[in-house]
Amino acid sequence: MKRLAGIPASRGICIGPVFQFIRQELVVTDCKVDDPQKEIERLNAAIGAAKEQISKIYEKALTEASQADAEIFQAHLMILEDPEMLSEVRKKIESRKCSAESAMKETAQAFSDMMAAMKDEYFAARATDILDVGNRVLRVLMGVAESPTANLKTPSVIVADDLTPSDTVLLDKSLVIGFCTARGSATSHTAILARGLGIPAVAGVGESILNSCNASQIILDGTNGEAILDPDQAMVKDYEQRIQTARTIREASVKHAHEPAVTIDGRHLEVVSNIGNVEGARSSIENGAEGVGLLRTEFLYLERSSLPTEEEQYQAYKAILDVFGNLPVILRTLDVGGDKEIPYMGLAAESNSFLGQRALRLCLVRPDIFKPQLRAALRAGVGRNLKIMFPMVATASEVRAARKVMDECIAELRKENIPFAENIEIGIMVEIPSAALVADQLAKEVDFFSIGTNDLSQYTMAADRTNPKVADLSNAFFPAVLRLIRDVISAAHKEGKWVGMCGELAGEPLAAPILLGLGLDEFSMNPPMVPVVKQILRNLNAQEMQALAEQALQLESPQEIQQLVKDKVPFIAELV
Ligand code: PEP
Ligand code: MG
Repeated sequence: MKRLAGIPASRGICIGPVFQFIRQELVVTDCKVDDPQKEIERLNAAIGAAKEQISKIYEKALTEASQADAEIFQAHLMILEDPEMLSEVRKKIESRKCSAESAMKETAQAFSDMMAAMKDEYFAARATDILDVGNRVLRVLMGVAESPTANLKTPSVIVADDLTPSDTVLLDKSLVIGFCTARGSATSHTAILARGLGIPAVAGVGESILNSCNASQIILDGTNGEAILDPDQAMVKDYEQRIQTARTIREASVKHAHEPAVTIDGRHLEVVSNIGNVEGARSSIENGAEGVGLLRTEFLYLERSSLPTEEEQYQAYKAILDVFGNLPVILRTLDVGGDKEIPYMGLAAESNSFLGQRALRLCLVRPDIFKPQLRAALRAGVGRNLKIMFPMVATASEVRAARKVMDECIAELRKENIPFAENIEIGIMVEIPSAALVADQLAKEVDFFSIGTNDLSQYTMAADRTNPKVADLSNAFFPAVLRLIRDVISAAHKEGKWVGMCGELAGEPLAAPILLGLGLDEFSMNPPMVPVVKQILRNLNAQEMQALAEQALQLESPQEIQQLVKDKVPFIAELV
């Protein structure tokens, strides 16, 4: 038995066999052929098959992932239709009498190197795409399976270094019961995917996990961030019991998913969702979310090779807003930088990117990025209940600057006679300690706050949220973070503004009584948690939770605070 500690990336527990996700290395030897014409025919057939594969993934990505994910594959198709590269491969086969494999490999590498040498982030991204496509053709030529998961036949825990969006598109999600990654973080693509699917994930457990054997048993505890390899019988029994209890509670909560969350003493809490694409939107409705507390728009910008146009963004936002009808949807403007890199934006490397020109800071100096997004959002909001929110606000002057850009967009749209949503509510994320400390000033500038506990914890505790070594410090249950939350809520309420929370803490069962006691108005979380948090809130008395919250804030550690909640509200203890 081996216990590995990692970052809790998606809550829940599962027990099952390990499936190692290993990309097979493609070894090509330079051999001579007798019949170059035959090699060219093999090459043409392989290109045709590769194109078919890409078209299928594109379709799959369109329905299962986002438009942005799908576009990666459209770009891949274009590479395979590039006459220059393909004629180079054919020329090599004819002149050197070499195999289709070695001509393809060499040419893809040369074209990719050429792109990379241009020292431009945009072309660097194309370089990776070319290699990806070249490898796809090679796999067809060599008869190697398209995806490392081709042999995944039984429900398993996927163990990997980390997964890319393309890896996950190909994955048969019905056979994945959990993700355990050696690297990665709670905000990595794998973690977000797992939370969307409602299955457990543990990230950053270290490279030793990559030595575990296929089919060996693993317990994954995504709530506490632990992986247990080859557990003994007693351990398995204990975890099976926990899974059963959680399942019973979840099933009970799902029955009432579409009922409102009204506490015993009659307080109605808004329970909404965090999403990043249309799939998340549909899952929100199924799980009874009363709208969206956080639409992460960066997914439209990631994993592609150029900025999305205003029109593309308009279509993408409209498709999401259409799912929600009159329900509120809070669209967060672009939050890149930090751990979210976008190569084609040509952003200069920063020695400390989490403290650098991230999110709103970047948008304020890049109207070429900010304005199309705001215009697209304003246009998509027509006839809908759209609200716009700015991330990473540190000062009141930033809010005024952002509003100014928005006013410019409104004036332009009016002049161009393009319909747009008038008088929409504007809010900010409170996720930097300075914003929390001057929440009284900021509350005068906006209509609402949404507390981002993921960043608020990392900045308050000075603990990088992507670093497994300090994962225990980057925890929103620390009283330092909870006290800031208390002050933010009370400052906003004094100004008559409402406060939501879209950081992970809002979907934490053990945090619900404290947040209710502190007066939080709106809870936003991953769709699968919506029914559970609603059910918890229905069984609490808001008045009584005030005393519990005050008591919690006097304690010293997350463990003490969580124990207090377990003692005072025992039914929640069974959920975790
Ligand atoms: C947060 O920081 O709490 C948040 C919700 O934003 P993100 O995780 O996207 O930084
Ligand atoms: Mg954040």
